[in-house]
Amino acid sequence: MKKYVLLLLSILMMLCFAAGCGGEKKDEGPKVLKVGTEATFPPFEFREKGSKELHGFDIDLINAIGKKLDMKVEILDMDFEALLPSVKRGNVNLVIAGVTITPERQKVVDMSDPYFQSGLSIVVNKGNTAIHKPEDLKGRAVAVQIETTGEEKAKKLTGDKVKSFKTNEEVFQALKEKTVEAVIIDKPVARYYIKKLALDAVIAGDSFEPEAYGIVTRRHAELTPRINKALAELKQSGEYDKIYEKWFGKETK
Ligand code: GLN
Repeated sequence: MKKYVLLLLSILMMLCFAAGCGGEKKDEGPKVLKVGTEATFPPFEFREKGSKELHGFDIDLINAIGKKLDMKVEILDMDFEALLPSVKRGNVNLVIAGVTITPERQKVVDMSDPYFQSGLSIVVNKGNTAIHKPEDLKGRAVAVQIETTGEEKAKKLTGDKVKSFKTNEEVFQALKEKTVEAVIIDKPVARYYIKKLALDAVIAGDSFEPEAYGIVTRRHAELTPRINKALAELKQSGEYDKIYEKWFGKETK
């Protein structure tokens, strides 16, 4: 009889162990995915006028990735220059903000596989016939967003004539008010601002090298390969294409 009781007890214990009772939780990683972004970068991340809600390609993409990882996405909007420091400090788990993959950034953070092909462009007011190519910017005032690849490019091209702003709204405001002659910003964003704000501005020339966006995580984060896997799955399943078409129509990638 004693034998049976012992057997029963050990079976119970095994069952209990398999079901994970007794307060022992297996390590499931964080349930909440804290995401940093900067929301003056339409159509990647932005707010419609008067709305608090964030929209955009990046927002849809990270929500789809969050679903794949079985994590609840929580988005924090902050200055562009605060994004990489936040991911480094661990205040956010990742950043999605149209961040271009560069060797300098890859030295301080992990960057995912590319998820979007982009590139910089020059924007000028209509009627400005002096600027057609990057070299024409020499000695001219150019507006850019702080810490972006556009700022880096503008510094190289114009020397000390760069005016750096926290938000892209201020960047385009400077162009409108003609305190600068040009803006350097990512081309899909330039297109969006010109169209949506009905700016009297145009994209001048087409001669910057391509750039690719990546999702930023802490260096050697266990999250990086999981993001790459989720991205690959979304591309495979056609979900990525759906999000792309929602924001860019049938434009070529
Ligand atoms: N792609 C640019 C960069 O990485 C600009 C990004 C942005 O302003 N959100 O610097």
